[in-house]
Amino acid sequence: MDEIISLIQNRDPEQREFHQAVKEVVESVRPVLERNPEYRQQAVLERITEPERVIMFRVPWMDDDTQVHVNRGFRVEMSSAIGPYKGGLRFHPSVNLGIIKFLAFEQVFKNGLTTLAMGGGKGGSDFNPKGKSDGEVMRFCQSFMAELARHIGPNTDVPAGDIGVGAREIGFLFGMYKKLRNEFTGVLTGKSLDWGGSLIRPEATGYGTVYFAAEMLATKSQTFEGKTCLVSGSGNVAQYTTEKLLDLGGKIVTLSDSGGYIYDEEGIDREKLAFVQQLKNIRRGRMSEYTETYPNAEYFPVDPALDYNPLWNHKADCAFPSATQNEINALDGKNLVDNGVYVIAEGANMPSVPEAVDLFVEHKLLYAPGKAANAGGVAVSGLEMAQNSMRLSWPREEVDNRLKQIMKSIHRTCVDAGDSYGVQGNYVAGANIAGFVKVVNAMLDQGLV
Ligand code: NDP
Repeated sequence: MDEIISLIQNRDPEQREFHQAVKEVVESVRPVLERNPEYRQQAVLERITEPERVIMFRVPWMDDDTQVHVNRGFRVEMSSAIGPYKGGLRFHPSVNLGIIKFLAFEQVFKNGLTTLAMGGGKGGSDFNPKGKSDGEVMRFCQSFMAELARHIGPNTDVPAGDIGVGAREIGFLFGMYKKLRNEFTGVLTGKSLDWGGSLIRPEATGYGTVYFAAEMLATKSQTFEGKTCLVSGSGNVAQYTTEKLLDLGGKIVTLSDSGGYIYDEEGIDREKLAFVQQLKNIRRGRMSEYTETYPNAEYFPVDPALDYNPLWNHKADCAFPSATQNEINALDGKNLVDNGVYVIAEGANMPSVPEAVDLFVEHKLLYAPGKAANAGGVAVSGLEMAQNSMRLSWPREEVDNRLKQIMKSIHRTCVDAGDSYGVQGNYVAGANIAGFVKVVNAMLDQGLV
């Protein structure tokens, strides 16, 4: 196991996030490998950490002033052991191959937990949609899809949204795919309702994260009623996490973006949430504008001199990191514990650094890692694929009920896997073990391919 970590570090020394994701899984599955010596002989770790295919490409596009720009596009097809590659596209200036590989690796196990037949992949670009006109975003998406189209398909690889890729971008990407292939097919998920999208898909990641946290609370005979919650981010996941927490009686006091965060001691109610949705989804504005409309709240711009994020340093019961990877550092982890936060459910992918994760596990918090907690998004994407194949559209209650059942089942799977390998109450180990066993067994059934 140490060998495999050295191997991937030496092979791609700059891919730090990928190493971090692999290390966590490898450490969790130690008891599985000890119990199944044939996995070693079959080199399952070496196989599962090497993508089946990596696609990197040039994305040239022209801005509104006719200036040409070039970005880099990626698609990492990590594993098709249990179904077609499935995972989102991220458009953000920080995107590089290491980040896409970590996301694709996490996606393999997450998809394995959903009970649906989906392999793992992830893609994106270092393009920054922020501040671009709709025309510029459209031209970029068209150029991106001009290359990606030859690698994807409804039974091959089905991308979706992620950071910087919402309904607008999915629309432009889908339009170009349709033109190139001359077929109307479920090749992307997160589509608009009028042309093949599923009800509840926009809400699914946030709702699912809260459903998972509710399951964890239920093990202590508790609910969200009256609980104070910290939420980071203000995009898709943060918005619908907030909405579901309100439904269940929670009080949400923070939201953020890359510029800073707001602390609203009175709580973010439905009216304030609607304001944030209008601000972020329509006006594409900044969280700093929140206090202009709600002056009783406070806004704290990001302070580069601080070695911790003050958002995680408020008294609260629950935390829902919903922005990006490694947004909770070791000090933030300690602050959360010291402030009495005892429920942490990760809407974002890998938002906590390993030292913070160790602290949460050591203090026996109800801590749900992203690959379990935020699997509701890809699960409803899987339901969107099923509806597209049948040319049917299920009602809202049906999709929401299926989502609830899937999150319940993921929770049960994590608990059972933890119990059977002697790591009771450890959702990190439980999620990693359950996802790993499922995918590895499928790989072995299919021979050395
Ligand atoms: P959005 O683009 O809708 O929102 C992202 C939010 O996070 C924005 O508020 C953004 O602020 C903030 N953010 C992004 N990068 C940074 C950064 N480097 N530092 C500080 N803030 C940042 O994305 P989503 O809500 O879809 O995704 C959020 C997280 O959830 C990601 O980790 C994603 O991988 C994960 N996820 C998403 C799923 C989905 O279905 N959408 C499914 C499963 C996981 P700003 O606008 O200023 O950039």
